[in-house]
Amino acid sequence: MKTENFFKRIQNDFKKAAAKNNTAAALVAKLLTFDRSLAFDVSFQKKNGSSRTVKGYRVQHNNILGPYKGGLRYHADVSMDEIKALSFLMTFKNAVIGVPFGGGKGGIAIDPKALDERELEEMTRSFARQLAPHIGPEKDVPAPDMNTNSKIMAWIADEYGKITGRPAPAVVTGKPIELGGSEGRLEATGYGGTYALLAILKFLKKKPENFTVAIQGFGNVGQHAGKSLRQNGFKVAAISDSKGGIYVPDGISDSDIKALVEYKAETGNLFNKRMMGQMIAPEEVLTLPVDIIVPAALENVIHKGNVRGIRAGIILEMANGPTTSEADKILVENGVMIIPDILANAGGVAVSYFEWFQNMRNERWTKKEVFSKLKKKMEQAVNDVYKIHREKKVTLREAAYMLALERIQAKWLKK
Ligand code: NAD
Repeated sequence: MKTENFFKRIQNDFKKAAAKNNTAAALVAKLLTFDRSLAFDVSFQKKNGSSRTVKGYRVQHNNILGPYKGGLRYHADVSMDEIKALSFLMTFKNAVIGVPFGGGKGGIAIDPKALDERELEEMTRSFARQLAPHIGPEKDVPAPDMNTNSKIMAWIADEYGKITGRPAPAVVTGKPIELGGSEGRLEATGYGGTYALLAILKFLKKKPENFTVAIQGFGNVGQHAGKSLRQNGFKVAAISDSKGGIYVPDGISDSDIKALVEYKAETGNLFNKRMMGQMIAPEEVLTLPVDIIVPAALENVIHKGNVRGIRAGIILEMANGPTTSEADKILVENGVMIIPDILANAGGVAVSYFEWFQNMRNERWTKKEVFSKLKKKMEQAVNDVYKIHREKKVTLREAAYMLALERIQAKWLKK
């Protein structure tokens, strides 16, 4: 990730919103600093018996709204800069969606695909022992992110329980259901994006049936977004992953979306010869003649080089930071509506909050309850953002940052 650029961009979004909101200078200064930036040497034994040490990080941006919250990613490109940028973003995402958490993020600089299962567990448990004094259900609550999953969260919760002497499932979210995970967490980000889009269309007095959609990325977020968009009446005309994509101008059917999910799980590929439709290159999905594009893969994919080719009128940002600021400016000038990442993909952290809440109260909600609460939460956030967008005549991105800052300032003034 080009972190410096990404970090600068989100700091600029924050500074613009702070100026428009007349945010107190002391709060602006505070939000430009980090409460804690932790770097660890994480050592573990490899299967050949030798020892390996990698860099692990946890950044706690601030806890004005509540315990720090944000995922842990395992990726070769993880760096302190990247983790800081993402923890900063989490502060605003948590505030927009209205969960009582501050911003945090963490990770390890490693390609986990190069490890076997036992090495992955040893490394994670070693990391958990380093993290243990700094995390806790009311202190800092990590979750899965890129290349981490429910199994990894279970190891962390287990190691934390051993160290503190009592099990505390609420120390992490995104756990397996049988260990206190929430129903619906897997689908949450994709479904949440669909709920946000539906709420926006209500304001525009438009029906999903009239919209064609192209989705970039067919992982957790892209697959669940595709499924729920289709089920809610949108025509999903194109889907791509890192190797290629499929374009069916009249829309991919429910059963074909299901077949694609199964095919991808079986083969790791999206490219499915059994299907009708036109094969396209991964980037082509963004410039097809569709009404809505859904970047759900990587950051910086909509940039100066391709922005003029974009024909959609709405962009639902499911990935974090998919639009560069240069592209954003051009899109806004062209009247394209961008539903920003801190709103569009906040469904994941909303259900993480539900999981934490269920653990703290010893409750168990059904999938139906979770989706109904998620829908309400996404609709409320969209309504609050849209109101600012209308009243202050600002973009949805500016409105989302302004809303987040209002909420943070209100709590900060009470402290
Ligand atoms: P994932 O690893 O499950 O899937 C990523 C997908 O993107 C894969 O299908 C991959 O093939 C595809 N991809 C990679 N490069 C591509 C390219 N050049 N063109 C087209 N497709 C490409 O990841 P995910 O969990 O689905 O996350 C996707 C994005 O959503 C990330 O930006 C992540 O930070 C963001 N996000 C995820 C969550 C969550 O709950 N999973 C929450 C908030 C934000």
